[in-house]
Amino acid sequence: MSPHIRRRDLLQLGAAGTAAASAGEVIAAVGEVTQGRRAARQPVLFIGHGSPMNAISDNRFTRALGGWGRKLPRPTALLVVSAHWLTPGQTLVGTQAKPRTIHDFGGFPQALFDVQYPAPGHPALARAAIGAVQHTRAEASEAWGLDHGTWSVLRLMWPQADIPTFQVSIDYAQPPRFHLTLGRELAVLREQGVMIVGSGNIVHNLRATERAAGETPTATQPWAADFDRYVAAALAQGDTDALVMPRLSMATRQAAVPTPDHYFPLLYSVGAAGSDSLRTAFEGFHSGTLSMRSVQYG
Ligand code: ZN
Repeated sequence: MSPHIRRRDLLQLGAAGTAAASAGEVIAAVGEVTQGRRAARQPVLFIGHGSPMNAISDNRFTRALGGWGRKLPRPTALLVVSAHWLTPGQTLVGTQAKPRTIHDFGGFPQALFDVQYPAPGHPALARAAIGAVQHTRAEASEAWGLDHGTWSVLRLMWPQADIPTFQVSIDYAQPPRFHLTLGRELAVLREQGVMIVGSGNIVHNLRATERAAGETPTATQPWAADFDRYVAAALAQGDTDALVMPRLSMATRQAAVPTPDHYFPLLYSVGAAGSDSLRTAFEGFHSGTLSMRSVQYG
């Protein structure tokens, strides 16, 4: 090691989250960035986000999210794991001071593309999140911003966009248990005022959703109801093995979760929740195929 590297530099490296940083060091680093104020331990959420159109719609789900946001404590920052930031082979954390609003979709009305969600980032707490991850090497990134998995629901819950927000990406090359483990590691940030939010959908099959959209009225598909009911029971029982590998028929699993992008955010929330009590904030389906089940721990 170069003798020119000073102790202060090493401390800064630690705060930036080398793989060797201990949980104690992380808490110390976070303590500095929150400037000694005691932040209240924050709940953990999982939100079923469904169509981006919810961001500018008025329905039972959007009204429920508005009411939920008004009841929640105000966090120092929001850490969001969105189904729409997939980075196979790496885990990235957004460290921008001003994350941009990403319109990562096509074929929607201009009004949706006009939506901006100018919440600031929180570079210091984002770096604390990097330090909290021990199971893999998380890295800082300014390549992304806030995608619609984040802003379409945050806009309903905190329309002022004044709570610092940053995203953690999903290493899409990893198996389910990896994501549960990372959620457990990120839980340390809750003590420092960070609300951890998974944003996906427990049941999500866009092809089936498009087919169902042509039917009126839209009945909930049996496989969607079966899978959602199974996961709800596993959440209620704290049965993480059942969530990692649902013991349901292959046909039901493949219909409900044809790809795991929208399911993995749930595992981060469950991991971060530990043994906290569960409350259902919303349940129901959109288009008969999208489970909008949203829950709160703690
Ligand atoms: Zn989505």
